[in-house]
Amino acid sequence: MENKIEWEKLGFGYRKTDYNVRCYYRDGKWGELEVSSSENIPIHMAATALHYGQQAFEGLKAYRGKDGKIRLFRWNENAKRMQNSARGILMAEVPVDLFHDAIVKAIKLNERFIPPYGTGSSLYIRPLLIGSGAEVGVRPAKEYLFMVFVTPVGPYFKEGFNPTKVAVVRDSDRAAPFGTGTFKVGGNYAASLRGGKKIQEGGYSSPMYLDCCEKKYIDEIGAANFFAIKDNTYITPKSPSILPSITNMSLIQLAEDLGIKVERRPVSIEELSTFEEVGACGTAAVISPIGEINDIDKGIVYKFCKDGKAGPISLKLYETLVGIQYGEIADKHNWITIVE
Ligand SMILES: *Cc1c(COP(=O)(O)O)cnc(C)c1O
Repeated sequence: MENKIEWEKLGFGYRKTDYNVRCYYRDGKWGELEVSSSENIPIHMAATALHYGQQAFEGLKAYRGKDGKIRLFRWNENAKRMQNSARGILMAEVPVDLFHDAIVKAIKLNERFIPPYGTGSSLYIRPLLIGSGAEVGVRPAKEYLFMVFVTPVGPYFKEGFNPTKVAVVRDSDRAAPFGTGTFKVGGNYAASLRGGKKIQEGGYSSPMYLDCCEKKYIDEIGAANFFAIKDNTYITPKSPSILPSITNMSLIQLAEDLGIKVERRPVSIEELSTFEEVGACGTAAVISPIGEINDIDKGIVYKFCKDGKAGPISLKLYETLVGIQYGEIADKHNWITIVE
């Protein structure tokens, strides 16, 4: 075994593990799951993934509980979303059973990389689906590769659960209303790199994207959904170009459980001045509270978390969701699958 991993010091990055799993779709059907110890994949130079962006991925985590058990959170939602992404860019869909078997196999084969309970780290699972068949004309591939690798990760933002700073971008969009914003495909990420870089160079952790038609409504915060709290209401944007976050869907349910009203509707950027708490949500950070949103073009800075800490509802939602993921809070909605 290589150097011992310092679990508490892990960031959100790639680290080699022992194995990954792969499966090919050929001649109209999925083959057998294969186990590999190589970090490389052989790929045809004319594969559609390389030229025309036929590529979709997922991100979920395995959590080690105090009881030593390994838990997955709503993995079937990731499976369904990957199918939706596949339909969105005309790729072969990965059957839910195959998705399940692949992630469980990848976790078990790399069990020694699952961070211990209490370290703040977890095992990130990355399913990937690519067009591997060769084409030169613009058309969907006939062959696909589905694979899953895992890697131990720590907090996504160096701030952890402390408030981050966000800046509004208006000169680049990550997705268009009838484009691919609702699918988890690499092309959206490529489109977001320019805006993200500019924002990060200015000292902000993430860009805030607005709707690309009117630049009036809030879409997403980098690769995370946006939510706000006001008058005991959880408000999150409804838009045709945002990715449906499983974390957001879960926070909506938890908010309802706590007697908090929920609104899913277009959220105008001008409303920011009326919000009590704002945050970004996604698997990587669960919730990252936002302390400042700088609308640089308009010269307006919106400030939240005036005492430097997340607001009470964000904190409660965060603690509840994380508590369920680690098996410390009752799983009323059957979100957890124990890996055995
Ligand atoms: C993955 C992703 C999210 C977060 O989704 P979760 O299911 O909560 O992890 C949000 N926005 C974008 C653009 C994403 O790709």
